[in-house]
Amino acid sequence: MDITPIIGPLNPAQREAVTSPTPALLVLAGAGSGKTRVLVHRIAWLMQMEGISPHGILAVTFTNKAASEMRGRIEQLLNISAQGLWVGTFHGLAHRLLRRHAKEAGLPDAFQILDSDDQHRLIRRVLKSLDLDEARWPPRQVQWFINAHKEEGRRARHLPESYDPYQKQMQRIYLAYEETCERSGLVDFAELLLRAHEFLRDTPEVLEHYQRRFHHVLVDEFQDTNRIQYAWLRLLTQERENLFVVGDDDQSIYSWRGAKVENLHRFQKDYPSHRLIRLEQNYRSTSNILNAANALIANNEGRLGKTLWTEGGIGEPISVYAAFNEQDEAYFVAERIKQWAQEGNARRDAAILYRSNAQSRQFEEKFLAMGIPYRVYGGLRFFERAEIKDALAYLRLIANRHDDPSFERVVNTPVRGIGAKTIDLIRDVARAERCSLWQAAEALCRDSALPARARTPLTGFLQLIEAMARDTAEHTLWEQVQHVVLASGLRAHYEKEKGEQAEARIENLDELINAARQFEYEPQLDMELSKLDQFLSHAALEAGENQSDEFEDCVQLMTLHAAKGLEFDLVFIVGLEEGLFPSLQSLEEPGRLEEERRLCYVGITRAKRKLFLTYAETRRLYGKETYPRPSRFLREIPSEYLQEVRMRGSIGRPMMSSHVSSGVSERASVYKLGQRVRHAKFGEGVILQYEGEGNQARVQVNFAEAGTKWLMLAYANLQPA
Ligand code: ATP
Ligand code: MG
Repeated sequence: MDITPIIGPLNPAQREAVTSPTPALLVLAGAGSGKTRVLVHRIAWLMQMEGISPHGILAVTFTNKAASEMRGRIEQLLNISAQGLWVGTFHGLAHRLLRRHAKEAGLPDAFQILDSDDQHRLIRRVLKSLDLDEARWPPRQVQWFINAHKEEGRRARHLPESYDPYQKQMQRIYLAYEETCERSGLVDFAELLLRAHEFLRDTPEVLEHYQRRFHHVLVDEFQDTNRIQYAWLRLLTQERENLFVVGDDDQSIYSWRGAKVENLHRFQKDYPSHRLIRLEQNYRSTSNILNAANALIANNEGRLGKTLWTEGGIGEPISVYAAFNEQDEAYFVAERIKQWAQEGNARRDAAILYRSNAQSRQFEEKFLAMGIPYRVYGGLRFFERAEIKDALAYLRLIANRHDDPSFERVVNTPVRGIGAKTIDLIRDVARAERCSLWQAAEALCRDSALPARARTPLTGFLQLIEAMARDTAEHTLWEQVQHVVLASGLRAHYEKEKGEQAEARIENLDELINAARQFEYEPQLDMELSKLDQFLSHAALEAGENQSDEFEDCVQLMTLHAAKGLEFDLVFIVGLEEGLFPSLQSLEEPGRLEEERRLCYVGITRAKRKLFLTYAETRRLYGKETYPRPSRFLREIPSEYLQEVRMRGSIGRPMMSSHVSSGVSERASVYKLGQRVRHAKFGEGVILQYEGEGNQARVQVNFAEAGTKWLMLAYANLQPA
């Protein structure tokens, strides 16, 4: 048997981990040291050398994308199919388990998954049914409360009785929310894990079955597991201590979502037979990049401590760019990407990482304007766009009439004359009868309890759904989707609407049919479920991870959080400003500041060859002009690794404000940021900023002699120099 492909491309420490005879193992190592590689090779080793069947292995990755890459790598290493292998995210795996055992776990066969948006909507409905004011009980806060408790494994009934009126009310809402989900067969993300855990814990014969089945359980990014995930792993592996984990305490960036870096310590206590292996060689980055990352993270306290070195060359220094404002920042990045592509590099090897999702818009706009193909990874998700959610809601109603959120979403979308009053009445009946909205609507139509004006469109809606279900029962998935997009009237609705936005929506709807078509050819999970139900789960779970332009050569845009585990030749970390990164909230709590620093460490260590760090001197944030200071993280990187850069040909950038009209400001549009100008008294200078319009227009000029001054454009009488 040739084992060279499996252990050949590994260093001695990695090899030790991969071939370890003890199944319990912790690989604790810094970024880019090959942890994920070790995990993949370990699985291949177990299958090849220890004769473990793919069915006997459970592997947990952080994203669905990582899971499919892992499967692909294993198949490539062994040259066999890894079909039976259970590899996926915690949520994906819990979902798979619950699908298989829906009944035993107390769920209807066709239970539907609520994504965060659906959950939000449902909570609003619950608040309404309890007669609570959203202003006092903000739905987002309720959502956070519920999810945080679920992630800790606590149901509403587990919460201690409280005399605090706030707590008491929150518990009441939580309870009502749980009841609604139960009644409609709805499962939110946190519920997937909680339910899977409770189910295994309370069903010994099933637990034993899986304990026997999975000879090895392996987890990537272990530092970011939360309490319920750990408990789940523990159930499966406590008997045989067959848990293999890799992680890095310096990359723990999800504590705000309940992740517990302490799980690294718990593992060491709970699995006494474990071995600890450290990896110290980084294979990813140049030494400039790696040293900068090491120096930055050294500012954190209470680390487990690791050494990391590289044989990679020194590489280029890290470039730091100070932009005038956020538009200038985007322009700078776009220029560099253009240059990068002109030099013959692939755009997909370049990534732009930002702290907050909203930052992507500037870059998107600039890229669109300059014709640079890009892809937002995990952000503006296809399956989260309104028209897609509408179409999916129809499909979900076809699959399960009692899906209340879907009913609410489309009962009057597109508008068919069902008024708010009627909908309120349906809700009242549903609440009184403890039945679904669908059943309530049926009863109202049947009993002629509604005036004809309201009854006719409502009956029409119920019949429409029934007809859709009947007419497509024998069709393939994509035909079903196509039929729904047309028969629901959604497409016609947007066709009437006209305009760019409507066009984009139509394109999206058409793309949904494509997605269904593509889905037909994908390997399926081994479960007895209709194609439609599988597709709906896929839509809820994979939102955003598979955008359509996968094959086009696109620059990748994503949050720093989403970049975990990935690597790129060229990386831009943008918006390095106090209050943005580190974020405003984190400045108040030392613990959170350290988490921001880890996030920065994650960002820096994504870069293989070249890293840019940028910040803006002024930025519009939450609708206000701000003048942030550069991020402390820039100061924490020793200057020997850094190099300030300027824009090539910095003259000629457009002014921020282009909608100038009056006589005076007509002149303003003649000036550009960065342009050299002359003033009768102050001499020569460079335009730094511009604000206001008309007679109020002002410019900030940095004069060689006189320093920086704000001048009213109407009176300054500036001349181009
Ligand atoms: P992160 O902490 O960011 O998740 P990681 O520790 O999981 O990083 P990998 O992604 O597995 O690191 O590896 C980083 C890079 O180094 C990858 O491109 C990988 O292929 C390469 N690599 C890992 N080990 C070796 C090795 N022994 N020889 C050559 N290249 C290696
Ligand atoms: Mg990794």
